Amino acid sequence: IESRLPAVGTTIFTVMSALAQEHGAVNLGQGFPDFDCDPALITAVDDAMRRGLNQYPLMTGVPALREAVAAKIQTLYGRAYNPGTEVTITAGATQAILTSILAIVHPGDEVIVLDPCYDSYEPNIVLAGGRAVHVPLTPRTFRPDFARIAAAITPRTRAIIINTPHNPSATIWSADEMQRLSDLLCDTDIFVIADEVYEHMVFDGQQHQSIARFPELAARGFIVSSFGKTYHVTGWKVGYVAAPASLMAEFRKVHQFNVFTVNTPVQHGIAAYMANPAPYLELSAFYQRKRDLFREGLAKTRFKILPSEGSYFQCVDYAGISDETEEAFCRRLTQDIGVAAIPLSAFYPDRFEQRIVRFCFAKKDETLKTALDRLASV
Ligand code: PMP
Ligand code: GLN
Repeated sequence: IESRLPAVGTTIFTVMSALAQEHGAVNLGQGFPDFDCDPALITAVDDAMRRGLNQYPLMTGVPALREAVAAKIQTLYGRAYNPGTEVTITAGATQAILTSILAIVHPGDEVIVLDPCYDSYEPNIVLAGGRAVHVPLTPRTFRPDFARIAAAITPRTRAIIINTPHNPSATIWSADEMQRLSDLLCDTDIFVIADEVYEHMVFDGQQHQSIARFPELAARGFIVSSFGKTYHVTGWKVGYVAAPASLMAEFRKVHQFNVFTVNTPVQHGIAAYMANPAPYLELSAFYQRKRDLFREGLAKTRFKILPSEGSYFQCVDYAGISDETEEAFCRRLTQDIGVAAIPLSAFYPDRFEQRIVRFCFAKKDETLKTALDRLASV
């Protein structure tokens, strides 16, 4: 059959997790916690199931959860989204991003992506009949290059996808960078898809710069987030989108024929759990401690440690250790050293090589210590 996605294979995350399992390696590759969520969250979902909340919810999501999301965005970022018309619950951020793209991208449209970028963006654009226009972040420092973004804009540019905190580089956008994007787009009709799934993991006292804080960006933007990241339940696959009503109306037209709706008891459980903001307010400190533990250990290895400002990722440069390609190095690290990582080249269309790999530190302390003991031998 003629493939709709001829360039696409199995995602690097699946490939590296399978390799880690095969070799009994500590899996610091695919991004997911190896510890469980708060038992109170499980109790909240269990309660919902026992209360008989097991049939289809509203197409747009359980009202209490949409209200909790809108209230959180208002409190943290100062923008009011109407839970009735401007928030929709999705099957994770993955579906939220695909549905946003399908809602706005017409055949022949261009969508700007900033490399390295999450691996679902380009296939999603292609499925919509669009074309991804790749603009690199600055090499090794991973900052947005506004001159290059401006130069990539054409009359066909329909949208730009941004991601802060950033997977894989663990950088975060500053308020000044967000303002520069806002200035660049304010006289255009370009939409913004803001992948903010790591919004609650920002370190060293910095603040997450949601597009909700920037009126020009919010007016043209879809905010995407994921409860899987925030509540240590990546397998539950529940997230949300917030967007102005006119954009959300188009989003929902696609959503209703894409998944229709999302797991009812999990939505009720998360809504009840969100009444206490502490779990997401304390998440940055929780992960900063793990980041610091991991970086202290890495300092005793031959890896060069790159900044980690947000997300649960830490990138390292292995140029002083090996001149293998990133993928070859990751495979050897998994097979011979027993630690799985993700090559940064997997996030570039041309497999651009920088001798940088990504570790995920969303792991128990003992898992991180075992990995560090092994990495010390590299
Ligand atoms: N965007 C980014 C940047 C991610 O890292 C992830 C998760 N790996 C997703 C989207 C998808 O999130 P979800 O699991 O909620 O679909
Ligand atoms: N987002 C996670 C990562 O970057 C993995 C998600 C997936 O496996 N698709 O590691």
